[in-house]
Amino acid sequence: ASFNRIGQTDEAVRAFLTLNEEGARASAAELDKQLAEGGERGLLFGLPAGLKDNMVTEGLLTTCASQFLRNYDPIYDGTAVKKLKAAQSVLIGKLNMDEFAMGGSNENSSFYPTRNPWNTDYVPGGSSGGSAAAVAAGQVYFSLGSDTGGSIRQPAAYCGVVGLKPTYGLVSRFGLVAFASSLDQIGPITKNVEDSAYVLQAIAGYDSMDSTSANVEIPDYASALTGDVKGLRIGVPKEYLGQGVDPKVKEAVLAALKVYESLGATWEEVSLPHTEYAVAAYYILASSEASSNLARFDGVRYGVRADNPDNLIDMYRKSRSQGFGAEVKRRIMLGTYALSSGYYDAYYLKAQKVRTLIKQDFDHVFEKFDLIIGPTAPTPAFRIDEQVGDPLTMYLNDIVTIPVSLAGVPAISVPCGFADGLPIGLQIIGKAFDERTVLRAAHAYE
Ligand code: GLN
Repeated sequence: ASFNRIGQTDEAVRAFLTLNEEGARASAAELDKQLAEGGERGLLFGLPAGLKDNMVTEGLLTTCASQFLRNYDPIYDGTAVKKLKAAQSVLIGKLNMDEFAMGGSNENSSFYPTRNPWNTDYVPGGSSGGSAAAVAAGQVYFSLGSDTGGSIRQPAAYCGVVGLKPTYGLVSRFGLVAFASSLDQIGPITKNVEDSAYVLQAIAGYDSMDSTSANVEIPDYASALTGDVKGLRIGVPKEYLGQGVDPKVKEAVLAALKVYESLGATWEEVSLPHTEYAVAAYYILASSEASSNLARFDGVRYGVRADNPDNLIDMYRKSRSQGFGAEVKRRIMLGTYALSSGYYDAYYLKAQKVRTLIKQDFDHVFEKFDLIIGPTAPTPAFRIDEQVGDPLTMYLNDIVTIPVSLAGVPAISVPCGFADGLPIGLQIIGKAFDERTVLRAAHAYE
């Protein structure tokens, strides 16, 4: 059914980069056989899944939507991938994204842009745009995305599906191609909140292969979905509904808060005063980490090597010049500059200090409130080509997802209405490792 649906829809949506048809059929047959022999059903038994193409998969191309990795055929599965397989999900294929997860529209894919299934003249968001579009188009039952500054939540909002960025460290990053290691997190994109709880259950947990993996006990997530939010205290940051937020988005968020009131929760306006510095700090920190992480792509160890180099240095230069797209180069240069001696204190160190202030903003609000609620993005999806020439405008689409990433706390985006036929997302933010409350509130609203 999944491959039929892909056949019907993917010419228009273009969510997939690589299909795993033979592999999927073989693993489905294997699951049937195990069941016939009396085996138990795993948590995700038989469910067709898609993976963002920055998660390494044994024997299946993993390109990061980059020309540099167009031939990269990994020899191992990342931890989240392994866990999905252990839960008996079936891997349908690899999904399009902005190159190396840098972007918010999928237009930075070096292959082709994915389109929003609600209206194919519009972007699906990014960088996990393929992951969100595939779920919205009914091609897979769920997918995994990665979120560094909004890349699960924002495309989920634009495509009208549910996207969860877990607490930093809850899901192993082993086998996730690194963009900004202090921010990157894998999470589920699903049709509803219950599915999100089950997929999170399957992928969360300590992993000694990831040095920043959190060694915490994993609770049962689905049992949190009681429908009861009575007495929950919600903070609504005034900075998240201010300037630059589309009035229709604001209206949809206020209507959602009314629903919470009717369910017995209370809300109050709060302030996250350093919000205005978050995007600037993020682009220094994420680009700095990216410039270091992407140094491994040298034409020797992974991916494509340029032809006919004059010497070793020329081989690096040509491979990197030909292999990376414009946005990736922009960030490598920005990050290298910010980390250079003489500039480090002024940019990188300063941005780290701002990050701490932003985290403290959240700590203060969470002393009195259980959750923070606002929009996932200031506007619904925009038209393809509308923002490509304007990286700064593009960066501002993440103004309300980036602070959450810098603070490392969990957040989910759930659909909360439409503007001109395009979905709007509600962002529900929780305390670190309190995914249960986030999921409970999202489920009660949905
Ligand atoms: N759009 C943001 C960026 O371009 C976030 C990307 C992400 O979360 N991977 O960096």
